[in-house]
This record gives sequence, C-alpha cells and structure tokens, in this order.
Amino acid sequence: MSKIKRILVQSYHYQIDDFGPNMGTYIPDVPAAFDKWVVTIETDDGISGSYAPHFGATGHALAQVNAMAPGLIGQDAEAREQIFERLKMNFRHFDKVGIAALDTALWDIAGKKYGASIATLLGGYRDKLPVYASTTSGQRRPGGLDSPGKYAEFAATCADHGIPAFKIHSFFDGNAKTEIDIMTAVKNRVGDDMKLMTDPASSLKSFMDAVEVGRACDDLGFYWYEDPYRDASSSAVAHKRLRDFIKTPLLIAEHIRGFEQKADFVLAGGTDIMHIDPELDGGITGTMRLAHFCDAIGMEVQLHTAGPMHRHCMAAIPNTIFYELALINPDRYWNAMQPPIYADDYGDRVDCVDSDGCVPVPTGPGLGVEYDWEKINAWTTSQTVFE
Ligand SMILES: [Mg+2]
Repeated sequence: MSKIKRILVQSYHYQIDDFGPNMGTYIPDVPAAFDKWVVTIETDDGISGSYAPHFGATGHALAQVNAMAPGLIGQDAEAREQIFERLKMNFRHFDKVGIAALDTALWDIAGKKYGASIATLLGGYRDKLPVYASTTSGQRRPGGLDSPGKYAEFAATCADHGIPAFKIHSFFDGNAKTEIDIMTAVKNRVGDDMKLMTDPASSLKSFMDAVEVGRACDDLGFYWYEDPYRDASSSAVAHKRLRDFIKTPLLIAEHIRGFEQKADFVLAGGTDIMHIDPELDGGITGTMRLAHFCDAIGMEVQLHTAGPMHRHCMAAIPNTIFYELALINPDRYWNAMQPPIYADDYGDRVDCVDSDGCVPVPTGPGLGVEYDWEKINAWTTSQTVFE
C-alpha cells in the first residue's frame, strides 16, 4: 500500500503580456495577471503526484482543497473511489470542486507507481484527439476578435491548420443579432469545411432570444448550440422546452455540479450532449463515472476546456467527439487559460495541432507532463503543508 504522507498546496502568481486586465480582451502591451495553484501528494514509499489546474484553479476550489487535504493523510493513495466517496459526503453542502485536483494527483501517483500513463490505466481507446478551436470572447476595442469578419478570418486560419471544428464565444453582450451576425460570417467564410458551434455562455437575455439564435443555428447547419441564455443552463425543463423549438443539438450542463445532479439533468431531458468539466466535476474519477453513464444511454459527452488530465480522460472515453482547444485568439494563437508552467512541449495552442487536426495524449507515467518546478517555486506566493 502507498500511504499518503504529505500534501503540499502552492499558490503562484504570473503574468502574460498583451492580454489586458480582462482575460478575454486583447490589449497590446497591457499584461494580465493570474493567480493559480498546484497540489502535490507524497506517499510513504517515496512517490509524488501533482496536478496544476488550468481553468479550475480558482480561489474557492483552493479553499476546498485546503479543507479536504488533512482528511487524506494516512489514507491509501490508490483508494481513489473510497476517497472520492468520502469527500463527496463530507463536503455535501458545497459544490465539491476541490475533489478534482486531489483526485488527479492521486491518479498521477498511480501512473508513476506502475510506470503507465493515466490513459493506459483507464483503458486506452485512442491516442490522438481531434480538436475544435474554441475562441476567447470578442471585444469592441480594436484588436483580437473585434468584428464578425475577424471571427471568419480566424476560422479560416484554423481550417488551414487542419482543425476540423470551430466554436464561437461571442461578444457576450446579450445581443441575439450580434450572435447571428458572427455565426453567419463564419459560415459564409468556411462553409462546410468545418463543423461549427456557438456558445453564448448564458449571455442572451431571454428564452425567446435563445429560440431566435437556435433557429439561426438550424438554418446555418450548426453542429451544437451551447449554454444560450441567462438561466445559466440551470433548468432542465427550460432546455427541454428549447429543444422543442429547434433542431440543433444542445450542449448543456457546464454549470451543473455533481455526479447525481448531472445525471438527473440528462434524464430530465435538459440536453442532447453532456458537458463535463474534469477540473470541476470530481476529477478523473468523477469524469469517467459520468461519461460511462452517458454512454449507457446513447449520449455523447464533451469535456470542458483543455489540459493534460482532459487528454487522458478523452483517450479512454469512446463516446466523445472533440477536444476543446480553449481559449484561443488570433493574435498569438494563445491559450488564455494555460499557465506557462510546463518544462516540456505540452501546449494547447493552434500550433500544437498536427496536420490531422489532432493533439497527442501524453505517454509518460501518470499525467506524462513535466512541470517547470523552478519557475513554479519562484512564482510561489504562499504554500500550505499537511502531514
Ligand atoms: Mg461553454
């Protein structure tokens, strides 16, 4: 048995250039500052596993990790299901997003112990992942995605890189016309060369706006329609009603937390495709449970955003379609969510996609990526040790 001996949680701070104070806005020479964190679990037989979340590295997830970590000391590092169940019960009053990083670090330990990648431990299904380009939001300020034409141009650039699908994150101004103008410009530019999707990210102001944009999705042959309006995709009944008005498949549940709640949302008819965020929905253990549940009822899942753990999960999930290359922008093909903490060539950018429109699954033990600890340690602003 590998017993959990010590857990280190490090917060770190970094900046990226030219991205402005708002993450989705391209402003030359104005840096954006980020605070993220990484968790490392060590065992009594000398194995160490880490996970540094990207999108999920929020302050409230960090608070949960710090609250959950003491209960893991002395536990069997390979009893991931038992730890998942205990954390789910002990934190049942909360959204439980802290489980993910701890669970993923435990999977990293297992991979290192057995000299196998997490994808291999999960049972490999594929070793290359077809991607879709997922844009940052647009902006009224010049630069970046500042017009429907810029979106169309960027879609064509992504198509030239062999990327088979493109998802719009619009200006998020709650304007159905803007949404439809961008969709139309992109469709007119790339035609049937790419599968197209749109994600208003709950910005549309009314249900009828959601119907209007949904009908445009139908007319333009969009592949899926995601989180349309201001209920924040929380009502299964509302989306079941929306499905009655439109033909385009809905991708919902990005904002629903909980294994059981997400299953309920599906069974209540709230979505055509299930959206799972591995960094928010219980890590690798929670993600695989949900994916298999959906497979049993003939439903595909999409994993939200990008990262090494997402790649390992997707490699072992038959019922999923695309890997979300999120969030990218034409100015530098950036991924605004990926912290620059890798010492190897891991990346979620346009130039990381191969000529078949795919990214690889890391093959090394555990997560199979190498963190740049020198950089992380230099950027560390605070740390907590549990032992
Ligand atoms: Mg979304």
